[in-house]
Amino acid sequence: MSHHLLQERLDGIRTGGLFRSLRQIAGVGPRVSLGDQDCLLLCSNNYLGLADHLDLKRAAVEAAFRFGTSSGASRLVSGSFSLHDELEQKVAEWKGTETALLFNSGYAANTGIIAAVAGRGDIIFSDRLNHASSIDGALLSGARLVRYPHNDCVALARLLARHQTDGLRLIVTDGVFSMDGDLAPFEELVALARHHEALLMVDDAHGGGILGPEGRGSAALAGLQEGIPLQMGTFGKALGSFGAYLACSQAMREYLINRSRSLIFSTSLPPAVLAASLAAIRLVRSEEGEQRRRRLAENVALFRQGLQRAGFTVPEGCTPIVPILVGDPVVTMTFSERLLEAGFFVQGIRPPTVPRGTSRLRCTVMASHTAADLDGAVEALGRIARGLGVL
Ligand SMILES: *Cc1c(COP(=O)(O)O)cnc(C)c1O
Repeated sequence: MSHHLLQERLDGIRTGGLFRSLRQIAGVGPRVSLGDQDCLLLCSNNYLGLADHLDLKRAAVEAAFRFGTSSGASRLVSGSFSLHDELEQKVAEWKGTETALLFNSGYAANTGIIAAVAGRGDIIFSDRLNHASSIDGALLSGARLVRYPHNDCVALARLLARHQTDGLRLIVTDGVFSMDGDLAPFEELVALARHHEALLMVDDAHGGGILGPEGRGSAALAGLQEGIPLQMGTFGKALGSFGAYLACSQAMREYLINRSRSLIFSTSLPPAVLAASLAAIRLVRSEEGEQRRRRLAENVALFRQGLQRAGFTVPEGCTPIVPILVGDPVVTMTFSERLLEAGFFVQGIRPPTVPRGTSRLRCTVMASHTAADLDGAVEALGRIARGLGVL
């Protein structure tokens, strides 16, 4: 691309109010520094505060000393260690599935799983608000992509009846929607998948660790894990580590080892990361994990109620993801800047991450926030929103 064309495209992004740049941050919260400013972090997915937990750090360091810093190859060449097998076994035990398969990230999992499972002649039914990685997987697959209105099972039923194929039909949904914080309608989805003989896949990047018994995730919260053959989740959010997994059947695991390109053509997760993920699963299943989830739930209730009292429209929900809808991308970024000046870091989220006209502040609550932290945040959000005419 010529320099001129590049500049022209960048200008196009700028005039739309959609220019993005990276911001250097130090720390994993709840207090962090951004440049020379200290602030309260209100937009991290480190919900349980595990990213700097001593158990995880120690496990990572010890594994690096013992096994080295890289796996040195993909799983299928010479990069499949005992730690990979052990972590897959622990994930399967935790999720209550036959087995599990690791992926290098949630993005790599969704693209690698969906594009391997579905192909030409197949149809993928995808919630309109699904994460970009699921959509990219669907586009890569070459299958027909049918997007249904968010959480609308009546519309999905109609689309399933209308779009028939001799091939496979795959329904894909986020368990917790990453930018809205609401849950998928599991009961209806499981029933629809069964009735229409479709395969159901849930991306639980934001549910794992924090929802359901032992933090088994959003489907476990609904008591419906059994009805979902493909349960994907990640280690990089509540679990404080990095990477992803699919909890699935043995046959599916074997198939993906043979067909999933993001697994076959990529160096596998390194020892330090695997060990940290193992420590994280131990933690979320322990009494300490339960305590952290309780703290998180209290904080979520406090923050959601506080915002409602301050006059914000907050959708009902139990997850730590709390969107404040602004609409305009430029106003959204001004809102975020003013908050930062007041000592609170909440990143603005704009298209294409969210649909046009729905730019927002995506606030996230952590177990390690104090009540005073959250009261202060609510006060600042209300004051600045009124100043900008958002409230
Ligand atoms: C973050 C996220 C992913 C991607 O996971 P990474 O491990 O960060 O690549 C996938 N799906 C959803 C819903 C997410 O929120």
